[in-house]
Amino acid sequence: MNKPIVLSGIRSTGHLHLGNYYGALRNFVDMQNDYDCRYFIADYHSLTTQPDPSVLNPNVRSILAEYLAAGMDPDKCIVYVQSDVPETCEFYTLLNMHAYLGELEKTVSFKDKARKQPNNVNAGLLTYPVLMAADILQHKANFVPVGKDQLQHLEMARNFANRFNHFYKTDFMVEPKPYEAKGEPIKIPGLDGSGKMGKSEGNCIYINDEDAVVIKKFKKAVTDMTPTEPNSEMNEPIKNLFYFLKLVSAPEVYDQFLAAWNDCSIRYGDLKMQIAEDVLKVTRPIRERYNEIYANADYLNKVREQGAEKARAIVRKNVEEMRQLMGFRKF
Ligand code: ATP
Ligand code: MG
Repeated sequence: MNKPIVLSGIRSTGHLHLGNYYGALRNFVDMQNDYDCRYFIADYHSLTTQPDPSVLNPNVRSILAEYLAAGMDPDKCIVYVQSDVPETCEFYTLLNMHAYLGELEKTVSFKDKARKQPNNVNAGLLTYPVLMAADILQHKANFVPVGKDQLQHLEMARNFANRFNHFYKTDFMVEPKPYEAKGEPIKIPGLDGSGKMGKSEGNCIYINDEDAVVIKKFKKAVTDMTPTEPNSEMNEPIKNLFYFLKLVSAPEVYDQFLAAWNDCSIRYGDLKMQIAEDVLKVTRPIRERYNEIYANADYLNKVREQGAEKARAIVRKNVEEMRQLMGFRKF
């Protein structure tokens, strides 16, 4: 039986932080075995906000190297760069004819971006959901792992698929569903006391941070007074540190610190250093692999070519079917 198809886009800017790693990437890596996974680096999409040729290429290179270093396996899934599959543009153009100005203008992300960059409200920004729908629908993907901020776009992709099927009286388009990871959703907190870790929050621990940088970031983590009453309730910054501890440290280490909290003997300096050391056990090997992979342009190009070849074969076939349905046929 064919495995369900999973499609996910990866932003082509920024670096991988612990939030991305635990919240998204680890799922991607797990899914490689059970699904037919296709992951792409969304470099076309990045042009809607900051077209800059001098950073585009190194950004894509470092993101690709980071994901490979962290466990994405190009022999188990299809990893490609969006612009290496220009068939996407044709799919997008054809799909655009069935996307309406009214619905595009109403999307939260468009209104948000238009407010943030009033001097660059370009057509790509408006049709971002159509390009995203093309990314998905061209693969006939069954599942898309999406965060809350992308749910509306996925809903639009479902609408476009439905509309197309009705209009052309076909079942060509597959309606993609959100992929829900098993178990408790992971939300990595920041070390600044509240909220999540995120690029926009400026509070990230990056997978590529050197040891000294990670240690420094943990040293600066917000804490509070040490407890004076046994078994006190933890406030948010402390809860966050314990969340980290649970994630990266051995269960007996966790229990030890919890006991120290409960009997008021806890020393935050020790707690922070313990977490920093255990975080580094996860990130150090990835960083080392990253440095090797990033420097190896031949390998990266090979991965890229291999991914593009596989993705293009699939997409070309689907675009051809779409063309036929829409009337682009030989006389
Ligand atoms: P931005 O601040 O620009 O939105 P970000 O740091 O939130 O960036 P994204 O690129 O939005 O990162 O997220 C990529 C993936 O990582 C998404 O699947 C998102 O849900 C996940 N992710 C990001 N931050 C966290 C976090 N703190 N905890 C768990 N998952 C996260
Ligand atoms: Mg985000």
